[in-house]
Amino acid sequence: WKNAPPSLAWLIQASRAHGENVFTVYEDERVTFEANYRAVAHLATKLQEMGVVAGDRVALAMRNLPEWPVIFFAAASIGAIVVPLNAWWTAGELEYGIDDSGARLLFVDDERYQRFVEAKPALPALEKMIVARASGTLEGRAERLEDLIGTPHDYASLPDIPFPQVAIAPDDDATIFYTSGTTGNPKGALGTHRNLMTNILSGGYAGARAMLRRGEAVPDPIPRTMLIVIPLFHVTACSASLMGVIATGSKVIFMRKWDVIRAMELIESEKVNVTGGVPTIAWQLIEHPERHKYDLSSIEAIAYGGAPSAPELVRRIHEEFGALPGNGWGMTETMATVTSHSAEDYLNRPTSAGPPVAVADLKIMDDDGVTEMPVGEVGELWARGPMIVKGYWNKPEATAETFVDGWVRTGDLARLDDEGFLFVVDRAKDMIIRGGENIYSSEVENVLYAHPAVTDCALIGIPHRTLGEEPAAVVHLAPGMEASEAELQAWVRSKLAVFKTPVAIRFVAETLPRNANGKILKKDLKALFEDRVGVPA
Ligand code: ATP
Ligand code: MG
Repeated sequence: WKNAPPSLAWLIQASRAHGENVFTVYEDERVTFEANYRAVAHLATKLQEMGVVAGDRVALAMRNLPEWPVIFFAAASIGAIVVPLNAWWTAGELEYGIDDSGARLLFVDDERYQRFVEAKPALPALEKMIVARASGTLEGRAERLEDLIGTPHDYASLPDIPFPQVAIAPDDDATIFYTSGTTGNPKGALGTHRNLMTNILSGGYAGARAMLRRGEAVPDPIPRTMLIVIPLFHVTACSASLMGVIATGSKVIFMRKWDVIRAMELIESEKVNVTGGVPTIAWQLIEHPERHKYDLSSIEAIAYGGAPSAPELVRRIHEEFGALPGNGWGMTETMATVTSHSAEDYLNRPTSAGPPVAVADLKIMDDDGVTEMPVGEVGELWARGPMIVKGYWNKPEATAETFVDGWVRTGDLARLDDEGFLFVVDRAKDMIIRGGENIYSSEVENVLYAHPAVTDCALIGIPHRTLGEEPAAVVHLAPGMEASEAELQAWVRSKLAVFKTPVAIRFVAETLPRNANGKILKKDLKALFEDRVGVPA
C-alpha cells in the first residue's frame, strides 16, 4: 500500500493478504480479513446482479456493525457511490439524505428500518431497502441482508468466487459523506477513490514525525488493535481510521453504542492499543472514577480530531494515562486528515492541531480571499491536496464558494507558526465580536478547562445592544467539585484580557450537548441566556 493504490476495489483485494487475522470484532462476532473479503466479493456480485452500475448511489444507515465495512467496500468496488447516512438522524432526516443523494438502494439495520416503518416516507427513487439483523417480517420493498450473504458468522464459509472486475480510475466518485451540520444543513461532499486512499498514506505511523525530529529511525507500521467508538458515517472513523486498519492488517473493535465502562472492559480484554476519535471520548476515559479498576496499560495512543481540544487534555493523557496524545485537523470536505500531531510535537505545542501531512498545503487568507496573512496572524484557513473532495453533491453555488482553484475554504479561523504548525482558534461562524474586538472561543475555553473543577465548557456569543455580542460560558463541573460564577470569572480575568471574560456563566448538570461527531451544538446553548437579552448596557 506504500505505492498509492488506485481504488477501494484494489484495497479490499489486497487486504486478503492478512488472511486469518481478525479484522472486525463486535460482541461475540469476529470477522477475519479473508471472511470480510469473501462477504464483500459476494455482496458486490449481488449488487451487480441487481443492476447497480458505476455512479449509482447506494446509501447506508446503520450503527457500527461488521456489515458496515462489507457494504461500503462492496458498493465502492463496483464503482457505485456509497452514501453513509447519519444513524442518529430521524426518519425525516434520513429521507433528506436519500432524496438528496438520489440513492437507488438503502442498507439499514433493524433500528432504522423500524423508523421507516413508522414514518412511511415516500422515497420515490428508492428501489429497495436491504435490512441487516431484521427482527421481524419485512414489508414491501425490503429484503434481508442475511439472504444475500448470511450473517457475519457465515462469512468465513462463503465460497471463494471471482471478485467483480470493474475499471475504476483514481478520480472516479466513491462516496458522499454528509457534513456534521454544526453550522447549517448537512451538505454532501463528493469524494473520490484517490481522496480515500490518500488517507492511508497520510495516516502513517503515529509519532513518526517526532521520531524523525529526534533522529530516530521510523519502524514500519505495525498492526494495531483499535477501538473505534465514533460512528463510521463520518470521515474521521471511516476514512482516517478504518482505511488504515484495512491497509495495515490491524484489528478494529466496534461497540454497539458508546459506553465508557464497556469501553474499558474491551480495552482490557482485547488489549486495545489505540482509541479516541473525538476529544470528549478521551475526557470520559481519563476522568472516569473507576478507571483504575481496569487494566488499560495496553493503550499506547489516544488520538482524536474533528473538534477543538484543550491543552489540559494533552497533558492528562500523557501524565495520568501514560499514553501518547494525538490530534488531527480535517473536515468532511477534506475526507479527514489534513494535519497530524502527536508525541513530543504535541506535548510541546498542546494548542496546535499539528503540521500538515506530507501531501497537504495550508495557507491563511484574509477575509477578502485574495491576500495571504503574514505568519502568525489569524485569518481563514485554506487547504489543498489530493484529499480534497470534488465539491458538494447537487450544490453548485456552495461548491463554487467553497472550492477555489484546488483549495478548500474551510470557514475555520487559524494561524500557522513559523514551522508550519496549525493553530485553529475558532470557526468563523462562532467567533465573538465584542464591540469590534475579536474573541476566539478556544482561547477562553482552554483557560476554563485549565481550572481544576471544569470538565466541559463552551464559550458562546450572546446579543448585546451596543456591543453587538459579548462572551458567555456554559460550564459542566467535574463530579464532586465546586466553583462559583464569580470564581471562574476571576480565573479567566487573571489570565486573559478583561473583555474576554464571560459576562455570565451557566452551570449545567450534564456534559454539553454534542452531535455524532463530538462537536458541541453551540447554537442550542444560546437559549440558556435568553433571560439576559434586553439587559441594559
Ligand atoms: P457543517 O459544515 O455542516 O456545519 P461541520 O463543519 O461540523 O458541520 P465536519 O466536516 O464534520 O462538519 O467538521 C469539520 C470542522 O470540525 C472543521 O471545520 C473544524 O471547525 C472542526 N475541526 C476538525 N478537526 C479539528 C481539530 N483538530 N481541532 C479543532 N477543530 C477541528
Ligand atoms: Mg463544515
